[in-house]
Amino acid sequence: MLYVMRCLAVLIVLAVVWQQVFGAVSSGPINQETAKEKIAIIGAGAGGSSSAYYLQRYSNYSYDITVFERNCYIGGRSTTINVHDDPRWPVEVGASVFVKVNCNLAAAAREFGLKVQSYNSGKVRRKDGLAIEDSFGIWDGRKLVFTASSESSWQRTIKLLYQYGTAPIRARLLSKKTSASFLAFYSQDYFPFVNLTEISRSRDLTNITSATTFDYCTGHGLSARYVNDIVQAATIVNYAQYVKRIHALGGFVCLAVDEALEIEGGNWQIFEKMLQKSGATVRLGTAVSEIDTSTKRSGKWKINIADSDKVEEFDQVIIAAPYYQTGIGGVPLRIKDAPYMTLYVTLVTSTKRLSSTYFGLKPGVPVPTMILTTLPDDDQAGSNMRPWFNSISVIRYIPDREEYVYKIFSASRITPEFLRLIFDKGAEFSWMYEKIWNAYPRLDPISNFSDWKVDNGGIWYLNGIEQFISTMETSSLAGANVAALIVGANNKTVVSVP
Ligand SMILES: Cc1cc2nc3c(=O)[nH]c(=O)nc-3n(C[C@H](O)[C@H](O)[C@H](O)COP(=O)(O)OP(=O)(O)OC[C@H]3O[C@@H](n4cnc5c(N)ncnc54)[C@H](O)[C@@H]3O)c2cc1C
Repeated sequence: MLYVMRCLAVLIVLAVVWQQVFGAVSSGPINQETAKEKIAIIGAGAGGSSSAYYLQRYSNYSYDITVFERNCYIGGRSTTINVHDDPRWPVEVGASVFVKVNCNLAAAAREFGLKVQSYNSGKVRRKDGLAIEDSFGIWDGRKLVFTASSESSWQRTIKLLYQYGTAPIRARLLSKKTSASFLAFYSQDYFPFVNLTEISRSRDLTNITSATTFDYCTGHGLSARYVNDIVQAATIVNYAQYVKRIHALGGFVCLAVDEALEIEGGNWQIFEKMLQKSGATVRLGTAVSEIDTSTKRSGKWKINIADSDKVEEFDQVIIAAPYYQTGIGGVPLRIKDAPYMTLYVTLVTSTKRLSSTYFGLKPGVPVPTMILTTLPDDDQAGSNMRPWFNSISVIRYIPDREEYVYKIFSASRITPEFLRLIFDKGAEFSWMYEKIWNAYPRLDPISNFSDWKVDNGGIWYLNGIEQFISTMETSSLAGANVAALIVGANNKTVVSVP
């Protein structure tokens, strides 16, 4: 009997030791999976995808991430459409370009082996092998105030200097200085930053965000004419806003387009690859309708899915979309958001070119392939002399159809009557596509930006950064930054710069 009891005791001890030593391992995948903190990300655009990617990269895959996306595609405002529904002709209808200094996008494109090319490279090549001329003009509703034809960049520079004196050089220096201040956000000294308002102050950017582009530029010696013609054409095409409204940081972003780049086939692929790499569960066509904050004390957040009774629980939630456009109901979260600019993007195909006479040129003189716009000198708000569109450009040539693809940005719908007015006589349009965006926030001068943390809890908001700068790169930086703050707070690993 004693022997049996001893054997039993030994077996029990062995069982306990076995459980302690091997138990966790044998039930490993299940335990680890359940132990992982659950993070919900709302939105699969640049911000949401970057959050997922950097959360896993910084934490060595310590999170269980679900990305909710109400569209049936990844990329948000970075998306392509196929001209004539032909996959050979994808064109961007949202964010088209990034620049070399956009660290996150450039690094991700490299990591994922995506082909980076100069913006529109080779797309406007005709059947005869000739590229159609790369020319641009600025239209004020009555006349072209500046034109540059297919000349080298230094010839263009001379033309600019001749027309506007030293203003282009001063503008370039200011833009470079601003860009250098911003790039410090990526350095070990600042990243990750807890507060956008503070880092903006410490990098001397708040004096730029709190002034209008017009006041800041003219205050730094740029002529009013240059700011009205050239800088304003850039702020209108990039942010649909005038220099007397948009803050100067927004203005400088529009000028910093040296070496504009794009991903062959569409910029959205960066975000698709980021999500793939993160291993997140991506739920397309799934809109979040409510974040239940009543469970806050338990440290959990309940998320309701639109058109379903489904409620799911998460430890942290990242909102990666402009809050007031999410349709998220329930108790409103304390998030400061700006109104967004409505922008119509219209694509049309035609064998014809724009009408020389409409643009005040002699018959037969080709209209520049890119027309930007500005306000006339004697502009009055509401005047019908203002241009009726923000920009029109030839974005590619389709050789087998001998057609040009035009992209038009405007504040209201482009009608067939308007097209007949601005195109050569007899123009027909074989294909037309319209996308209406809540494109970017109104970038009024500002010195305080919304916090990443909402209500000091486990809810995070990325898109406050859009009032600082609204680009794919800055949304990606916001995603990386919040990921680093979350991972850092959990001491998962040492966070490096993106
Ligand atoms: C016409 C146009 C041209 C532009 N050009 C450029 C450019 O050349 N270069 C550049 O860098 N930037 C450009 N931008 C700006 C750039 O697109 C944005 O700054 C950037 O893409 C924003 O990314 P995001 O992830 O923050 O937001 P978004 O891309 O808007 O992503 C948010 C996502 O959240 C989803 N969502 C919203 N609500 C819910 C919900 N309740 N549940 C689930 N999902 C939800 C949306 O469907 C969307 O997919 C342009 C924008 C437009 C519109």
